[in-house]
Amino acid sequence: RCGSVAVVGRPNVGKSTLVNALVGAKVSIVSNRPQTTRHRLLGIATVPGGQMLLVDTPGLHRQEGRFKASAMSRVMNRTARGAVEDVDAAVLVVEAGRWDEEDSHAFKVLSDAGIPVVLVVNKVDRLKDKSTLLPFLAEVSKDRQFAAVHPVSALKRKGLEALVADVLALL
Ligand code: GDP
Ligand code: MG
Repeated sequence: RCGSVAVVGRPNVGKSTLVNALVGAKVSIVSNRPQTTRHRLLGIATVPGGQMLLVDTPGLHRQEGRFKASAMSRVMNRTARGAVEDVDAAVLVVEAGRWDEEDSHAFKVLSDAGIPVVLVVNKVDRLKDKSTLLPFLAEVSKDRQFAAVHPVSALKRKGLEALVADVLALL
């Protein structure tokens, strides 16, 4: 299986760490230039069962501050919607225990575009009280149709095999 996967999430949730963990040492192509005006290729992950082209989607997230709800913001959001339409799947990365409006917005844009969204709940190694994880997963999954939900630690490379298997299945 082979396809393109958008890696989406707020700053600092661990997207780059996840991409590096998936792409691993056998880096095929990494470019800091846009391949198209729509995506930037972050890397190619060669995994058991296939390959994933990991891309980001600049501008997907809602503009904050003074651009909020401005004409500029609407144009950027429209552009972002166009940008997500040609990926096969998306992983939405959040930090364990933290979900905010921006995550809801990103999920909505992706699901409205018909893109299957796999939720990656990262940094589970940092959870002091592990019993908070299940209620968090239940809360964010309520009223949202994720293709799969995976608690992981990108840093410690935990949970990534199961994540990869579920993402590949969407391609
Ligand atoms: P990005 O902005 O979404 O690309 O996030 P980065 O990949 O740059 O990570 C932001 C910070 O979170 C860095 O200090 C990472 O080392 C840290 N980080 C990423 N993944 C994990 C994780 O699974 N566990 C812990 N404890 N820290 C992580
Ligand atoms: Mg990053």
